[in-house]
Amino acid sequence: MDSPLPRRTRVVVIGAGQAGLSVAYHLQRRGLRPGVDLVVLDRGPGTGGAWQFRWESLRLGDAHRVNDLPGMAELGLSFETADATVPAREIVADYYRRFEDAYRLEVRRPVAVTAVEDAGDLLRVVTDHGTIEAEAVVNASGTWGAPFRPRVRGDETFRGRQWTTVDYVDAADFRGRRVVVVGGGTSAVGFVRELEGVAAATTWVTRRTVEFVEGDGLAQENGIAAVAAQDEAARAGLPLPSIVSGTKLVATPRIRAAIDRGTLVAHPMFTAVEPDGVRFADGSFVPADDIIWATGFRPELKHLAPLHLREHSGGIVVERGRVTREPRLFLAGYGPQASTIGANRAGRAVAAQVLALLDQKP
Ligand SMILES: Cc1cc2nc3c(=O)[nH]c(=O)nc-3n(C[C@H](O)[C@H](O)[C@H](O)COP(=O)(O)OP(=O)(O)OC[C@H]3O[C@@H](n4cnc5c(N)ncnc54)[C@H](O)[C@@H]3O)c2cc1C
Repeated sequence: MDSPLPRRTRVVVIGAGQAGLSVAYHLQRRGLRPGVDLVVLDRGPGTGGAWQFRWESLRLGDAHRVNDLPGMAELGLSFETADATVPAREIVADYYRRFEDAYRLEVRRPVAVTAVEDAGDLLRVVTDHGTIEAEAVVNASGTWGAPFRPRVRGDETFRGRQWTTVDYVDAADFRGRRVVVVGGGTSAVGFVRELEGVAAATTWVTRRTVEFVEGDGLAQENGIAAVAAQDEAARAGLPLPSIVSGTKLVATPRIRAAIDRGTLVAHPMFTAVEPDGVRFADGSFVPADDIIWATGFRPELKHLAPLHLREHSGGIVVERGRVTREPRLFLAGYGPQASTIGANRAGRAVAAQVLALLDQKP
């Protein structure tokens, strides 16, 4: 951070991942001046949003696809043609950096937002680098900072190591060890595949039955159903359902091959963790040195707590990205928007509503 933050602006965007950049792009295109009317804050050290922290072996093009940000085509950039041999975290960080530079978004980093408060006519954004007041705040803080881990009886007694998705760096950390991978999503499937031939033994368990489907068309259909379920919960102010539970997994050719050679065999969830392994409902026991909890994420919203947005039902009422209880606050990339394509759509929809709000002000 070279210069102090302004004390007052029109719009603060919290987070420079796909959602925050998309909103910032549309606001900038519609006349807001970055650094003056629009201040984008991100606590990460570099560009790339959460992608800068993904594990080294994660690549684009197989199970993972990143949609192009709006305005990327004009820069001659597309994730579709990105080099699939280079780690996704490097590609995304590089493309986002070029995008931020080209559109002069002036993202301020590393700046961590610790609270958003009601300051009467304005919202007050408290950060570790000072306080900014704004007419509107767009929260695009993603989920990476809030990995979800279910509690299981006895898990505190485990003598081995326990990890979540955000801790996973390299399969080499598990060389020669007996690993239990928990989770029914793409991350868990990726870990099981990577540990093949590295770990001494890998046991994959899922809380729900995993269904693999062939081809993108079906996956799209399932994706639409999952997004609809997220939207319904957000509008009703209910806690968001797990994305994984609504989405079947696509068997890419590599995943299909792993299924065929018996690597990807899902077992039902264990009922207890013991000091040296996990115990299943039928009494059987699997010894383990490591448990990887690839059990999803929750939106990271703790800095919004001073606004008291939660309903008794546990969720926040959000319609098309706008928070009903606090109409000066928008959640971009939340619920139905929590994918790169959803984040893109959020950008346009949220920016339009923010501009309409600003227009109402004298
Ligand atoms: C392992 C994994 C793989 C995925 N793969 C895909 C995929 O292939 N395709 C796809 O479409 N989606 C994928 N997703 C979903 C993915 O999260 C979204 O697609 C998208 O990248 C999220 O963008 P975002 O802007 O909402 O969040 P993020 O990329 O998480 O960006 C949020 C930003 O907010 C910042 N931030 C957070 N809190 C604060 C704070 N308090 N103060 C300041 N800054 C803050 C963070 O530093 C971060 O830069 C994947 C998710 C995971 C976990």
